[in-house]
Amino acid sequence: MGMTDVLIVGAGPTGLVLACDLARRGTAVRIVDRSPAPPRTSRAKGPNARSLEILDGLGVAEEVLAAGSAPLPMVKYRDRLPVAETDPWADSAPSPDAPYDRGRLIAQWRLEEILRDRLAGYGVRVELGREVTGLAEGPGGRHVDVMFAEGRTERARYVVGCDGAHSSVRKLLGIGFEGTTAEDQVMVCGDVDLADGALDRTRWHQWFDEDGAVMLCPIPGTRTGWWFQAGPERDGRGRPLAPTADGFRRLLARHTALAGRALTRAELLSTYRVNVRMADRFRAGRVFLAGDAAHVHAVAGGLGMNTGIQDAFNLGWKLGLVLAGHAGAKLLDTYEEERLPVAARTLDLTSERLRATLEAIRRPGGGLDAAITPDTTGLGVGYRWSSLARGHADTVRQIGDGLPDAPQAGDRAPDAPCVNALTGARTRLHRVFAGPHTTVLGFGPGSAAVLREVAASYGDAGVRTCRVYAAHEDRAASSPGTAVVDDEGHAAAAYGTGASDGRGTGTLVVVRPDHHLGLSAPADDARSGHACLRRLHGSERFSGIGGRRP
Ligand SMILES: Cc1cc2nc3c(=O)[nH]c(=O)nc-3n(C[C@H](O)[C@H](O)[C@H](O)COP(=O)(O)OP(=O)(O)OC[C@H]3O[C@@H](n4cnc5c(N)ncnc54)[C@H](O)[C@@H]3O)c2cc1C
Repeated sequence: MGMTDVLIVGAGPTGLVLACDLARRGTAVRIVDRSPAPPRTSRAKGPNARSLEILDGLGVAEEVLAAGSAPLPMVKYRDRLPVAETDPWADSAPSPDAPYDRGRLIAQWRLEEILRDRLAGYGVRVELGREVTGLAEGPGGRHVDVMFAEGRTERARYVVGCDGAHSSVRKLLGIGFEGTTAEDQVMVCGDVDLADGALDRTRWHQWFDEDGAVMLCPIPGTRTGWWFQAGPERDGRGRPLAPTADGFRRLLARHTALAGRALTRAELLSTYRVNVRMADRFRAGRVFLAGDAAHVHAVAGGLGMNTGIQDAFNLGWKLGLVLAGHAGAKLLDTYEEERLPVAARTLDLTSERLRATLEAIRRPGGGLDAAITPDTTGLGVGYRWSSLARGHADTVRQIGDGLPDAPQAGDRAPDAPCVNALTGARTRLHRVFAGPHTTVLGFGPGSAAVLREVAASYGDAGVRTCRVYAAHEDRAASSPGTAVVDDEGHAAAAYGTGASDGRGTGTLVVVRPDHHLGLSAPADDARSGHACLRRLHGSERFSGIGGRRP
C-alpha cells in the first residue's frame, strides 16, 4: 500500500487552501471528496480582508479580485419602499499596513474553482466520488489507514478532516460537537436569475417587514444571477416549508416591489439553520479537524468559510515543516492551541452579530450592515497566548515598549510598501513573506550579524532573511537574502522598531510562514532569536546568534 504524507478529506475552501499550501511546499498531499462533481452550493459570499491576504500569499488573490467585486452598499426597504442606504465600508480605506481593508464578493464555488486550478498547477487533483468511511491508526501510531466507501484503503502520515459540519472524520474519531441548533432561526437560500434590469446590480437589496425578509445580492461574474436569502414560507402550524422556485416567487411578490415572475430561474436551493457548535478537540493523534468540521456558527459577519481558510493556513506550514524534517512534531500541538480559542471567540462574535442584526432589522433602515464590525475583517486575529509566542515575553524587552500599537509575538505581521534594494522596484513586506518560508526581518545596522547567522544556520530549513534599510541608511555592507528600503518609513512605523532610522542596536522580527510574528526583539538579543527559531523549527542549529550563545 502506498503512503502519502497528508490526506485531506473534503475539498471545500478549507481543504483546498490546505492542499494548495502543502502542495507548494512539495509535501505529498492528496485530497478526496465524496461528491461526484465539484460541489456547487449557494453559500459564502467571499473572502474577508485577512483571507484575501492568505489568498495573496498563495498566489491567487489577483484572480479572486478579478472574478469578484467590491462589497456593495446596501439598500434597505420597509413595506416594499426604500428607506435607507448604507455603505458599511464608507469609513474604511486601505492603509500601508493593511492593503485589503475589506473583503471581496465572489461566489464560494467560484473561489473553489480558482483554488482547484491552482492545485492542479502543482499536479494535484481533487479525487472526486471518494467517501471516507473509516479510520484506523497504524501500529505504533506511525500512520493512519483511511477506509473508503468503494472498499479501498489508503495510508497517510497525517489526515485532515475538512469534511464540513457533518464531518465523518470527527464522528469516526468520537470527538464531540457541542452547542446548539436554533430550530426557529431558519433561512432559505439559493442562486436565482432575475429578468435583466429588474433591479440595480450595484446594490445589495434587503427588504424587511413585520412578517418576513428577502435579501438579493448580485453574484459577481454573472449578468442576471443573484444570491437569494429569505425567511421561509411556513405551513399552517408555523413550520418552515422547503425552498422551491415558486416559493421564492411568492416571497418576492409578498415582500418586495418585484413581481414573482421577475425570478426566471432558481437553483442550489437550501434551508439554513443557525448552528453554533464546536469540536472539543481539533486533533486526535495524527488526525486533525479544520473548517466547518471543527466549528460552525451563525452566518452573521460572514466568518464560516473565512475561519476555515485561516485554520488551513495555520496548519499547513506546521505539517509542511514537520514532514520535511525542519521542525519537531511538537509544533503540531500548536494548531489546536492557537485555533481552538479563535473558533470559540468566533462563535461568540457571530452570535453577538446575529443578535445585533435581528435587533437592527426590527427598525426601519436596519439591515445586514449591523453584522459587520472591524472584527469581521479577521485582521485582528492573533495568537499572543500561544506557546510559539510565549517564552521570551517575561525576560526580553519588547520592541515597541511604550508604543501600544506595536505588534507583539503572535500578532498578524503588518504589511508595508517598500522598495527592493537590488532592483529598485516597488514591493511590499507581504510580497517578501509570500511563500512557504519563515522570514527574519532585520532593521538597523545592528541586525546584520544576526541575519548572516540565521541565513547560515537556517537557510536550508525554509528560513529567509530580509534586511530592511532606512531611506538614508548606508547600504554598502552586503546582507544575505532579500533587502528592501523602507523609503517612506512605513515598515518601521508598522513594526514599532524606530530602528530603521539607522541608529540603535537594530531589531529582529521573525515572521512565521502564516504571517504571524514569532518574535520582535532587539537584534543583539541572542537568546530570544535562538529560542524563537527553535520553537518554530525545532532544532539546535545556531552556533550562537550574533556570536552569543544562549
Ligand atoms: C447560506 C450560507 C451563507 C454563508 N455565507 C458565508 C459568508 O458570507 N462568509 C463565510 O465565510 N461563510 C459563509 N458560510 C459558511 C461557509 O459556506 C462554510 O463555512 C464553508 O463552506 C466551510 O468550508 P469547509 O471547507 O470547512 O467545509 P465544506 O465547504 O462544507 O466542504 C466539506 C466537503 O467535504 C466533503 N465531504 C463530507 N464528508 C465527506 C466524506 N466522508 N468523505 C469525503 N468527502 C466528504 C463534502 O462533499 C464537501 O465538499 C455560509 C453558509 C451558508 C449555508
